[in-house]
Amino acid sequence: MNMRVKLWGVRGSLPSPHSPEQLTDKFRALLEEYEHFRRNNSGGIEDFLKRTEPYKVGGFGGHTACFQVTTPNMDIAIDGGSGIRRYGEALLLGPCGLGKGEVHIFMTHFHWDHMIGLPFFVPIFIPGNRIHFYAVQDDLEDRVRAMFCKPHFPVPFERLGAKVIFHKLQPREPKVLNDLTITPYQLDHPDPCWGFRCESGGKAFSHCVDTEGTRVSRKDLDKDLPLYQNADLVIYDAQYSFLEAAEKIDWGHASGPIGIDLAAREKIKKILFIHHDPAASDEKIHLVEEQTRAYYKSCLRMSKDQGVEFSEFEWSFAREGMVVEL
Ligand SMILES: [Zn+2]
Ligand SMILES: [Zn+2]
Repeated sequence: MNMRVKLWGVRGSLPSPHSPEQLTDKFRALLEEYEHFRRNNSGGIEDFLKRTEPYKVGGFGGHTACFQVTTPNMDIAIDGGSGIRRYGEALLLGPCGLGKGEVHIFMTHFHWDHMIGLPFFVPIFIPGNRIHFYAVQDDLEDRVRAMFCKPHFPVPFERLGAKVIFHKLQPREPKVLNDLTITPYQLDHPDPCWGFRCESGGKAFSHCVDTEGTRVSRKDLDKDLPLYQNADLVIYDAQYSFLEAAEKIDWGHASGPIGIDLAAREKIKKILFIHHDPAASDEKIHLVEEQTRAYYKSCLRMSKDQGVEFSEFEWSFAREGMVVEL
């Protein structure tokens, strides 16, 4: 393994757990499917679960942005959405639990959904740990301090147990941490937002969220084009269906077909879509995924029938907890 990417949170804008009513509907639908399965198959519950689409069982997930990138000698997180709480719990099993941990958190931007988990990141309260934050934005320290501020949170920044260290990144300049190189490129999002290309052992993972994908051509992308080119894995914004994205100009989020076009042109090997809309049910997200599949298939057909260049690649709408090894 050269690089491993774990998705601790894939929801956009606001943490969105299932409501009791949604869970009841989900169980009812599953039990009905199971009854049908039992009538026609000899297998048991495990067999049924294996054959059932995962989104029908656990859904896509409700936690917001947090991604872990691990190489043989390095481990970083991108963003501190509500998903970072469970990342923090996982770290407690290692040196962070003993107050001897070193944590590296790269921030794309400071919208709530990318910050809201920081006050619940337990390693930051443990004396002896060193927590490094990185961002292109000049106000990184002010923004992180503001998350630990009365009356919004009872523990002020000055009383955090760990030592917190801030690092300024330069746009499009690589930052080398052991065997991992991270380069920030600008995305199409207000306030603004920076994507990260992470490279190690000849593999490249690009984090491209949040973005509206308004700059489409290579000429428009210009200095930010290397974020996408020949990446082994890209995480891309698909908060909206294609029609919704067309209506929500300047809202800062994209849709599946925009990422599909980009992946085909820039020879991306695998693309995962995230930042699912907080108002979207699992069924709605699945429906948008199916619409994207119809678009992908039409691109493949056009390439066969009309000779338009379009080669196949892997893609899906991501679920919380997914792990990809490169
Ligand atoms: Zn966001
Ligand atoms: Zn945002």
